[in-house]
Formats: sequence, C-alpha cells, structure tokens
Amino acid sequence: MKTIVFDAGHGGHDNGANGFGLYEKDLCEDRVKRMKIILENEYENVKIILTRSDDTFLELRERAQIANRAGADVFISDHKNAFNGKARGFESFIWNGGVGAATRSLQNIVHRSVYNKIKKYDIPDRGTKQANFSVLRNTKMSAILLEEAFIDNRADNNLLQKKEFSEAYCRGVVEGLAEFLGLKKKADQQNMKSVYKEDDWMSEKLDKATKEVWQPVIERWTDEEKQHNPIGKVWLERIKNDELECKDIIRLLGHERLRGLK
Ligand SMILES: [Zn+2]
Repeated sequence: MKTIVFDAGHGGHDNGANGFGLYEKDLCEDRVKRMKIILENEYENVKIILTRSDDTFLELRERAQIANRAGADVFISDHKNAFNGKARGFESFIWNGGVGAATRSLQNIVHRSVYNKIKKYDIPDRGTKQANFSVLRNTKMSAILLEEAFIDNRADNNLLQKKEFSEAYCRGVVEGLAEFLGLKKKADQQNMKSVYKEDDWMSEKLDKATKEVWQPVIERWTDEEKQHNPIGKVWLERIKNDELECKDIIRLLGHERLRGLK
C-alpha cells in the first residue's frame, strides 16, 4: 500500500492569491479532491490523505505533520501562483535545503507528466525549481509543491476555470505519481487491454486503435458516467466475456457522437 498526502494550499481566513473572482484556496481544494477520486477509482493499493477537504485553516507545520504521522510515501502541495498580472505558466518546487535523488526524481516525473498534459493549452513551462517552503522543509518523505498556473493573469485564469484544463492537470499529477510509485491500474482497465488474444492477427492494430479511441473517451466521462453509463457497463461485460469485437468500438464511437450532440 502506498500513501499519498495531498495538501490543498491555504484555506479558511487565508484565501491565498486571488484574481478575476477566484480564490486560490478554492481551486486547490477542487484539484486535490479530483486527484483523490481518480487515484481511488483507477489504481490499486493506494491510500489518499487530504490535509484539508473543506474550507478550513491549517498551519503550515500541521500540514507537514499530517504527512509525517501517516508515514506517507509522497507529499504533494497544490497551489495557484500570482505575481504582477503578466507572469504565466506552470512550475514545481522541491526544498532547496538538500534533498535526495528520490525527491528530484519525483519532481522531474510529475513535472513532465503534468506539462505533457497541459502544453496543448499553450501555457508556458516555467520549469523545475527549488525553494525554502515550510511544507517541503518539514516533510520527511519526498515532497513537491505545484503551482498550476497564475490566478492573477487573464489567460491563465481562463485556463484555471476550464474543466478540460483542470482535468488534464489533475490527470498529469496522478499519472506522474503512479509512475513514480509504480502503482498498478485496477483490473477492469487491465482487461480492456488483455482481451485481445496473442494469435489474433488484428490484435496489435486493435490494441493501438482502442488505446487511441477508448482512452480519451473514458477521460471525458464524469465519475458518475463511469459508474452508470449503460454503454460502459455493456462494454465491460463484453470484455469480461471475451466478446470484444471491432464493431463494438464503432458502436461506442457512435454513442459518443450522440452524447456530443446532446
Ligand atoms: Zn499558495
């Protein structure tokens, strides 16, 4: 079992930065909750702890202590940046007081994973950085602090309000963490891949096509749709029964088009 602590920056009377009607503290709370849901839904043997899951104030020291007491494997502090209204972009931090190779590796993997997901929104990459932040200094495990984007910049603020952007960001963090910790995907998702038989001459093509077609489809589903979408259920049943065929993919795409037209 791997334990991840997500720390939503600020909270309560501490709003953090703000811009264009948004408070940093609210965006941070939203992101850590989404990351928790993705990890719990899709990965095995992972325990997620949130330092706060509502709008309450927490001392910086207490945030680190929550992770230390839990014996967490990694600590992720989520923040939104602000400067002069002009600065833009995503950046990540580790402690500048001498960290091990594992922490540098965590930063590099998560940073790359996040930026790969969000670069299509033309947001600048401000790079991997180091700083003397309390939560990084006082945590005993590998710890990083993420600044998703600048809340006081109009273009970045627009992105922060965009559902697709925040999902890409959260997924980038989750996939980076999964890679760093070696987390395993849950079985129903493995089945999607393993359904193709080795002796099937189409298997390679289908496998590639499914990855390209199916994965973005799932990523667009809300959590409720993942639970209740009838095509999702049918699809999963057929996979279990080893009945997956090319026409199912076509049906699924047709269904997706209808959804888009609603
Ligand atoms: Zn902050």
